[in-house]
Amino acid sequence: MDYAKYIPHPKTKFLRVKCSGCGNEQIIFSAPATSKVKCLVCEKDLAESTGSKLKLKSKVISILE
Ligand SMILES: [Zn+2]
Repeated sequence: MDYAKYIPHPKTKFLRVKCSGCGNEQIIFSAPATSKVKCLVCEKDLAESTGSKLKLKSKVISILE
C-alpha cells in the first residue's frame, strides 16, 4: 500500500510581520517561491527567500495558517 499519498502537503503559512523601519504591519506569504517581500509603506525589505527558506528581516507578530 502506498502511504505517501496520505502525507499531507506542508501547510502554506502566512506571517504577520511588523516592519522594523516604519512599524507597518503586513501579512506576508512564507512560500519558498517568494523572492523578496518589501514593506508597502517604506519599501524596506521584510523578508528574503534564500533557497528553500525564508529569511525574515522583520519582527513576526503571529503566524496564520
Ligand atoms: Zn516599513
